[in-house]
Amino acid sequence: MTETTTRLRPIVDGLFELDGEQLVLAGSRCTSCGTVAFPSQGSCPRCTSDTVERHLLARTGTLWTWTTQGFRPKSPPYTGPEEFSPYAVGYVELGGEIRVEGRLTEADPRRLRIGMPMRVTSLAVTGTDGEPRVTYAFEAVEAAE
Ligand SMILES: [Zn+2]
Repeated sequence: MTETTTRLRPIVDGLFELDGEQLVLAGSRCTSCGTVAFPSQGSCPRCTSDTVERHLLARTGTLWTWTTQGFRPKSPPYTGPEEFSPYAVGYVELGGEIRVEGRLTEADPRRLRIGMPMRVTSLAVTGTDGEPRVTYAFEAVEAAE
């Protein structure tokens, strides 16, 4: 994550907050049954209660599953550059409470494995209006050696 990235406009308002230069995903939590949702929802997806509160997700977790995108997706809705580089997407389980889908910063399948430690980071992307934006992504936590 770079200072420049986090100064860009978010791809969607309310999706995340910045804690200094660190990006924190903003979901919702049901005050009746405790179910956590991301992106935040106005009612609980489990018990349908509408008493939900804003809930910031853990910044670290583990890679639950992943896949790679090896060719340029159909446009629209894809807004990336004409010149395509393969990338990976995955679900990361954050704080043991929710699995969140997102881009992975690592695109090499040989360097990805289920269960590996991950953390939230920022990623510069192009918005549907062609302007630079920031979204969230997941990066591998370097193993302490
Ligand atoms: Zn609920």
